[in-house]
Amino acid sequence: MGELANCPKCNALFIKSTFKTICDACFKEEEKAYETVYNFLRKRENRTATLLEVVDGTGVSEDLILKFIRQKRLQLSNFPNLGYPCDKCGKAIQDGKLCTNCAKELKAEIEKLQKFDEWKKDKGDNGSTYYANKPKKD
Ligand SMILES: [Zn+2]
Ligand SMILES: [Zn+2]
Repeated sequence: MGELANCPKCNALFIKSTFKTICDACFKEEEKAYETVYNFLRKRENRTATLLEVVDGTGVSEDLILKFIRQKRLQLSNFPNLGYPCDKCGKAIQDGKLCTNCAKELKAEIEKLQKFDEWKKDKGDNGSTYYANKPKKD
């Protein structure tokens, strides 16, 4: 069942549903943009294009291309340089939220915190000051 809503792109009224978050006109625009991007990437010489090169080459906005990537409509395994930015450092990634480096760092950070937590438990602390004393990362 849909509900009446304003299109987030053009503000037109439309029936919103789980699969439809923008109005028909904007949906058609997006489909056209997807085709443009798809046709661009189908060319062999564009296989190594970066996100910016795709934006330049197609005139489609970065946001929209990222949306297609997140929707997994663009098969990134064929395009080694294409991806969306890592949440932390902005490097192009194709899976998850963080690049390998940042994921590794985060894991080390979590392990450090866990050790800290254990160390505090060893000292008989009930952990109530844990959050206040959480080491700051810069
Ligand atoms: Zn619209
Ligand atoms: Zn990163």
